[in-house]
Amino acid sequence: MEIYVPDIYQKDIYEIKYDVLTSRGIKCLIFDLDNTLVPIKDTLPTDKTKELFKELKSKGFKIYIASNSIKPRVKPFHEELNVEYIFNAKKPKTNRVNELIEKSKFGLDEIAIIGDSMIDDVVCGNTIGITTVLVDQISKLEFPLARIRRFKEKRIQKKLRDKDLFTKGRYYE
Ligand SMILES: [Mg+2]
Repeated sequence: MEIYVPDIYQKDIYEIKYDVLTSRGIKCLIFDLDNTLVPIKDTLPTDKTKELFKELKSKGFKIYIASNSIKPRVKPFHEELNVEYIFNAKKPKTNRVNELIEKSKFGLDEIAIIGDSMIDDVVCGNTIGITTVLVDQISKLEFPLARIRRFKEKRIQKKLRDKDLFTKGRYYE
C-alpha cells in the first residue's frame, strides 16, 4: 500500500512549499496537466499558472509536463508556459517518464513529480524512486478513464485511512 502514499500532500500547486523542496535537494519538477495545472475543460494555462511557473523558473527549477493526454491537449501548455513536455506518458507506467528523466540528466533524488492522481502520478513516481507530491484534483470533472481510476482511488484511500497511512484533506510536507 505504501506505493500509493505521496511524500508530500498539499491542496493545490500554489500551496506547495517549493522552498522546502529546494531544501531537500529537489531541482527538477515534473508536473501532471489535467486537474493538476488546470481543469480538463481549460485548454490554456491561467495567468496564475503562468506566474507560478515564472517564479519557479526564477528559483532555478527545471520544469517538465508529463501528461497522459494526447499531444493536441498538451502542446499549447508547452507553448504558453515554455516548458518541455511529454504526452501519452502512460503513467503509472514508468517507461516514458524514465526516458524524460534520463534526458534531464538530474538524479532521482533531485526530481519531484507533482500530480492529482494517486494511481497515476504517485505510483509512477514511487516506482521510479523520485519524490512524489500529491495535490487535490482541481475539478470534479474528469476524462472517462480518469473517472474509473478515481473510483479505484477512493477504495484505496479508504484502506490507507484505516491503516492511518493517508487521510484526504490532512495535508503534510
Ligand atoms: Mg491529472
